[in-house]
Amino acid sequence: MRRVKSFFGGIYPDDSKKSTAEAPIEILAAPPTLVVPLLQHAGAEATPVVAKGDEVLKGQLLGQANGAVSAPVHSPVSGTVVAIEPRAHACGSSVTSIVIENNGEDKWVEKNSHHDPVQLDAATIRQRIADAGIVGMGGGGFPTALKLNPPNNIVIDYLIINGCECEPYLTADHRLMVEYSEEIILGAKLMAKASGARKIIIAVEDNKPDALEALRRHAGAIEVISLPTKYPEGGEKQLIQAVTGREVPSGGLPFQAGAIVQNVATAWAVTKAVRDGEPSISRVVTVTGKTIKEPKNFLVPLGTPIEYLVEAAGGFNGTVGKVVVGGPMMGGAQFDLSAPVCKTVSGVLAFIEEESITPPVLPCIKCARCVDVCPANLLPLRLEAYGMNKMWDEAQRYGALDCIECGCCSYICPSKRPLLQYIRLAKREIVAKQKKPS
Ligand code: SF4
Ligand code: SF4
Repeated sequence: MRRVKSFFGGIYPDDSKKSTAEAPIEILAAPPTLVVPLLQHAGAEATPVVAKGDEVLKGQLLGQANGAVSAPVHSPVSGTVVAIEPRAHACGSSVTSIVIENNGEDKWVEKNSHHDPVQLDAATIRQRIADAGIVGMGGGGFPTALKLNPPNNIVIDYLIINGCECEPYLTADHRLMVEYSEEIILGAKLMAKASGARKIIIAVEDNKPDALEALRRHAGAIEVISLPTKYPEGGEKQLIQAVTGREVPSGGLPFQAGAIVQNVATAWAVTKAVRDGEPSISRVVTVTGKTIKEPKNFLVPLGTPIEYLVEAAGGFNGTVGKVVVGGPMMGGAQFDLSAPVCKTVSGVLAFIEEESITPPVLPCIKCARCVDVCPANLLPLRLEAYGMNKMWDEAQRYGALDCIECGCCSYICPSKRPLLQYIRLAKREIVAKQKKPS
């Protein structure tokens, strides 16, 4: 049995998962109108290949990948393209989107399925994953096929399938592991073949014993390990450290430690694409929080407006203070609930007013608690000061780009300082400066 070490730092927030941890996934019927953003991934926006007035089939290509780091998008329903225009996006800005009126006929394009996909060669599996528009569904949104194709001569020792779901409230991955464990195992095998990984390890936090059991039932030679419940256990670098004892170098990528990390929802999507011939047009989303009447886990067509999802969960119960997309630690507050679910949206959380009040910011008391919890071994108090004072070079020297934006420092700070806010600002400025021609 593998000896699992934990990563440095981290916190232990109340996981608040009870209300949906045992709620089976409900398949949500598509709404009358869907909004498909051309940007649902890291990299360049997809280029539309349909026009207003076109009739489209379910699974049909709507936008093709634009360049090396990009991903195509497909239609989640059959219907008519009624607009191609900027629409609200869960990231907070507006993004060019293809608006489809659902004809309710659920007519598919021809599917290129394969009854024994593990027999396919690595390049074919990667091509199918790329063509299906699969990106990291844990939130990163990086195109999966690219991640499975590390530079020449790099040996991948470990493919780690991330089933930690360490953010409080979220149970979408948990339910997927319980109910679709076979698809996750097959997806893991396909990704191992596609990347040449020597060993597959599925890592799940120990607060999900039913998920561990379901996966082990189908795992065969794949190792399924239980990790201590601690936030941010699911962070890519933290997970590699906990599972393999290896460290990804500062500023480096996981393959430099001989590892690739993929989320369980991505593994599920890979099976749908390579075995069933279905592109990435749906995902599981948790809808929960104190002001949601009936918290649920839904399997949702991508492009479904968040407000439609809230209604399907019984609507709001009382006054809403804040709606967040994603988890409470790393998710983003929403100002327009017409924004659609896209590939990286794992949760919709509605908080009451008392939970949404920003407490007064007090002076730093130099307690170093932010340093103790930082999983990236940074000095958050110092980075905050550099961010506040626009000292970008100093922020870079002190490793701002290694910040994984987990929010542990802001969470633990007794003075309620907006540490992450200023570190994010510093990161943005450093990256912008690096991109400027010298
Ligand atoms: S500095 Fe970044 S990595 Fe460190 S605790 Fe804060 S948010 Fe997390
Ligand atoms: S936790 Fe807050 S108060 Fe303590 S050192 Fe860090 S910034 Fe200062």
